[in-house]
Amino acid sequence: MSDFDRWIGEELERITAQHLHRSLRRVDSAQGAEVVVDGRTLVNFSSNDYLGLANHPRLRAAAAAAIEQFGAGSGSARLICGNLAPHAELEETLARFKGTEAALTFASGFAAALGTIPALVGKGDIVILDKLSHACLVDAARLSEATIRVFPHNHLGKLERLLNWARETHPAARVLVVTESVFSMDGDRAPLREIVELKDRFGAWLFLDEAHAAGVIGPCGRGLAAELGVTDRVDVQMATLGKALGSSGGAICGSSKLIDFLVNRARSFIFSTAPAPSAAAAAREALQLLERGEMESARQTLWRNIRALASGLRQPEPQSAILPIPTGDEERTMAMAGHLADRGFWVGAIRPPTVPKFQARLRIVATSIHSDAQIENLSAVLNDAQNINKSSRQR
Ligand SMILES: *Cc1c(COP(=O)(O)O)cnc(C)c1O
Repeated sequence: MSDFDRWIGEELERITAQHLHRSLRRVDSAQGAEVVVDGRTLVNFSSNDYLGLANHPRLRAAAAAAIEQFGAGSGSARLICGNLAPHAELEETLARFKGTEAALTFASGFAAALGTIPALVGKGDIVILDKLSHACLVDAARLSEATIRVFPHNHLGKLERLLNWARETHPAARVLVVTESVFSMDGDRAPLREIVELKDRFGAWLFLDEAHAAGVIGPCGRGLAAELGVTDRVDVQMATLGKALGSSGGAICGSSKLIDFLVNRARSFIFSTAPAPSAAAAAREALQLLERGEMESARQTLWRNIRALASGLRQPEPQSAILPIPTGDEERTMAMAGHLADRGFWVGAIRPPTVPKFQARLRIVATSIHSDAQIENLSAVLNDAQNINKSSRQR
């Protein structure tokens, strides 16, 4: 065995011993309330396809039409010759939907963060992040080489102290506050209004990741900034096109100047092939369905299902479609997910480093396409599993 293979092997053994090994599961069906996984049909409570748009006939038709007209690939980066009509149309629709002057799309949300944050801040500047910020926000902050400070999750007092510190010790620095509107593994919301007040008071900028709010929260699913009427005060809004919007890609929404600047400075935009025209066309179709109100009944069903699931699982008042069930250790989390799979349910088993140590959990996601029976059955099986768990621990 080569040194290289031996090292990889040892690393993998360590990951496995900690119950942190992950592997891919092959899905042989389209996304939906039920999916075929390793030859078995499971009810899917693990996707971010909140409105069932990933396999919606209108999105499929829009993608197919874009392929007919523009082909499968984009040919190059946007700045070379890949700036196809579907990209321009998507960005125009996105800006209108988000209530900003302009928008810029990227191959993924991860790429949007990685290109944007280092374009805005650098050495000598300061990034202040919520502790539970998504990995792409953390990596983007690191890549920027700015000084990083972290505040405990949603802790306004600590954020204020950090802003004060930043202003006193680095009066000339750019200060960027980074947070999410809905936290991806906890499902709770940021106190956005208060954060906007604070960052304005200290002359800082705000980067808001709306990944899990788009389509779910706000008028017609426009997001949390729109819900609270603070769109004009959020300097940079990020969205993803692969969650409720049913396609793939990421986006930054803001002023025309910001977008012009990113076209010139965001490296993950400049040096990356434009997304497939079909993905752009599908995302645009999703936005049009939302803004024309054609998804309003699905959105009402989504929220009814969210509340039914939360009450079935005896969870507090839900703030989003993401319902975390704390399980504590990694081994028990995997055992519970396995128990649920045996009974026909696919739920996310979330372990470090996705969440902090000792905070493993099941991540249950409600969508508009789950039936009442699917929600009731999951609640029953999960409550049962938790009771078994408790009694086995008491023994
Ligand atoms: C999924 C996610 C991203 C990354 O978006 P992709 O388009 O999947 O790369 C960024 N931020 C948050 C909060 C997310 O949940």
